[in-house]
Amino acid sequence: MKLVIASNNKGKIAEMSDLLADLGVEIVSQKEAGFNEDVDETGTTFMENARLKATAASRALGCAVIADDSGLVVDALNGEPGVYSARYTGNHDDSDEDRYMYLLKKMEGITDRSARFICSICCILEDGTEISADGTCEGTILEAPRGHNGFGYDPVFQPVGYEESMAELGAVKQQISHRAHALTVFKSKLEDYFNGIDQ
Ligand code: IMP
Repeated sequence: MKLVIASNNKGKIAEMSDLLADLGVEIVSQKEAGFNEDVDETGTTFMENARLKATAASRALGCAVIADDSGLVVDALNGEPGVYSARYTGNHDDSDEDRYMYLLKKMEGITDRSARFICSICCILEDGTEISADGTCEGTILEAPRGHNGFGYDPVFQPVGYEESMAELGAVKQQISHRAHALTVFKSKLEDYFNGIDQ
């Protein structure tokens, strides 16, 4: 079986490929599979956007596809940046650093730093079956960036129970992240599907 990751985000593709390696299927990115579209993320929830990305790639490629929509939800900012995490500054060409510095500026003087990363996974199998899963990672927003691993907002996010930022944790991120939690649920549902248990 071939499973296409419907994303152009290199950080996300690397983490998902690693977390899905034990499935024993061929994992390729949508670009490697020949699909280069940037799908409009018009949904209002992470799951709606994950489904939009999975559906577009699955229709174009006709094989099993998995999409992740994810982002950072900050309580004191009423859930911002949320589904707009990848385009928070409003400028598509801005870097991850531009976005997390923009967030830190908005958080200046705010004492409630609680936040969470959320990941919604939508997989559409070759027969059209949809398998979905969600994952969360709770934490706080730091006052200044720390660390160089990971991607996105990792340097300004400190997971609950750790002294380090997500970008300082290295391989540990793959055990505790929102994406890791969502993919664990997904893999269990996929196993049930292969064993003939209804989704
Ligand atoms: P999308 O799911 O492609 O719309 O974009 C998700 C955006 O959320 C990324 O571009 C990052 O800014 C942010 N994000 C998602 N997951 C992570 C993560 O694991 N670490 C840091 N930032 C993340």
